[in-house]
Amino acid sequence: MSDITKTGFLNSAELKEAGRYPSEERLEKGPVAVIECCQNIPCNPCETACKYGAITVGDPITNLPILDESKCIGCGVCITKCPGLAIFVVDKSKEMARVSFPFEYLPLPEKGDTVKAVDRAGQYVCDAKVIRVNNAAANDCTPVVTIEVPKELGDDVRSIRRLNLPEEDREARLLEIDDWSAVPDDLIVCRCEEVTVGEIKKAIAEGARTVEGIKKRTRAGMGLCQGRTCVKLVSRILGSETGLKPDEIKPDTVRMPIKPVAFGVYKE
Ligand code: SF4
Ligand code: SF4
Repeated sequence: MSDITKTGFLNSAELKEAGRYPSEERLEKGPVAVIECCQNIPCNPCETACKYGAITVGDPITNLPILDESKCIGCGVCITKCPGLAIFVVDKSKEMARVSFPFEYLPLPEKGDTVKAVDRAGQYVCDAKVIRVNNAAANDCTPVVTIEVPKELGDDVRSIRRLNLPEEDREARLLEIDDWSAVPDDLIVCRCEEVTVGEIKKAIAEGARTVEGIKKRTRAGMGLCQGRTCVKLVSRILGSETGLKPDEIKPDTVRMPIKPVAFGVYKE
């Protein structure tokens, strides 16, 4: 099993093993939601979004959502309501699989475009054809893109590479930068808490020598995504500013997949 604290996601084999993936039989029938949410966080918009009653979070609200695949019609509404961008719709009823996913980057692709499909780790998987781009007002700025990929890749493809990234696009290459001295201070690294490169460098100048130390001083990594977007970048900046090598940089503390229980549980 992969280490989810390092990868940040379960792969399709792990989701299937955990019983958190629609059956192959259901996938072959037509579009169905695939809920890849794996943290016991207090969250349930997916449950309230589904008017077919196909998703249950229940009580307590920290339960993982459960899909009733027989009730799901694959409408995709839950994709747009999940703040964790953890829901997809997969359809294996045709010769090619169709995968629908949230895509909050501009520019959006257009129907008929050929795009680069990527897996959960953002790695290129195959070229794919765009079947649909749904950016209706009801989506509240979470467009849903549907692409067509070879059937055997339908469980692994989960997004596409951002479009039209010019070679000189500095943000696209942030993960490859080892020397951050020339990166503008006003560039935002932690998007949830809007923490900039300059604020992170200041925390390091003030003595922070771990990702956790930077987190405590700046709040980088404390937002909704819990560092999913920014922690690797913060590590890079720390390495650049201090000369620490990647394996010398202590990772931040991740939220453990545990949930509170009532005192009464301990009475016996
Ligand atoms: S895809 Fe539609 S029917 Fe299926 S769980 Fe999501 S909202 Fe409900
Ligand atoms: S993160 Fe998404 S899938 Fe998980 S409980 Fe919240 S809305 Fe549902």
